[in-house]
Amino acid sequence: MSGKPHLKDMTLEEMEAYFAEMGKERYRARQVMKWLYQRGAQSFDVMTDLSKEFRDKLKEMVEIRDPEIVKTSTSIDGTKKVLFQLEDGHKVESVLIPGKNHWTACLSTQVGCAMGCLFCFTGTIGLKRNLRASEIVGQLIRLRFETPEGASVKNVVLMGMGEPLANYENTLKAIKNFTSDYGMGFSTRKITVSTCGIAPKIVQLGHDIRVNLAVSLNAPDNERRSTLMPINRLYPIEALLQACRDYPMPGRRMLTFEYVLLGDFNDTIQDAKKLARLLRGIRCKVNLIAFNEFPGSRFKSPSPEAIRNFQQVLLDAGYTTIVRTSRGKDICAACGQLSGQ
Ligand code: SF4
Repeated sequence: MSGKPHLKDMTLEEMEAYFAEMGKERYRARQVMKWLYQRGAQSFDVMTDLSKEFRDKLKEMVEIRDPEIVKTSTSIDGTKKVLFQLEDGHKVESVLIPGKNHWTACLSTQVGCAMGCLFCFTGTIGLKRNLRASEIVGQLIRLRFETPEGASVKNVVLMGMGEPLANYENTLKAIKNFTSDYGMGFSTRKITVSTCGIAPKIVQLGHDIRVNLAVSLNAPDNERRSTLMPINRLYPIEALLQACRDYPMPGRRMLTFEYVLLGDFNDTIQDAKKLARLLRGIRCKVNLIAFNEFPGSRFKSPSPEAIRNFQQVLLDAGYTTIVRTSRGKDICAACGQLSGQ
């Protein structure tokens, strides 16, 4: 590892301050940001609107390289799983999901994850380390070049390996660079942070930046949720839903609750009714995800009938409820299947 500071670990304001310390004009940061994020520059040599002397100085002092793609697998449904090698040898995965006119990039925020959700393969690995902001944003910079000609990445979801809110500062910096006019220029409407339910960080995120929020709920009561998701012992459903109520979703946007349906565990009509009561008063929609079995998992996939019945109860209760088709199952790119291997 070079040990040099990485420019993509800095927000625009931080880069301006860094350049000012070097005796350079603050507007240089805007120039450099555009090269890094909009033109995907991987070397200072191409930054021809900077003086040779400044480029040489930057080369000596800072790093700008993005994680390297070491493997790409493509599913029969077109979903691509991309394996990245980080500077220290660790590996993480991202997923590119094709839509009608646009692609969605699902990015990782940690190497592994400490949260230990029982239905998730990433959770079995444990946490190796947090990703730096440059490693989060670097996945997207590389992925933009992996879509077919004419199709671009329009949505970003932080739903890959790791719990984004457990790596709060770096995740926030990455989001700032996704959404900066001098960065990647995404609207905050196109960014979704998915969390297992770190209640105080949900509230903090709402104060710091207004992106879409998806909360992984997965059970209609504390007993079963604590079994599935250890975080529930710290922030039980009541605390989590209060944080969701306090989350300032702008305009007509809706919060999303993710619910992984596990066969014979949380997929009955009674469970759906309980869930409908629980979410009353929250402007939200529900995504149902049929569990993807993985080697050694103790749960099984729900039956198609159970999925249909569960959805119908929520629809009848007035919730927009979508059964998310799992993409990329054949290449282990579906929800909860990422391992970085
Ligand atoms: Fe971590 Fe998310 Fe998997 Fe839970 S579901 S173990 S928070 S990666």
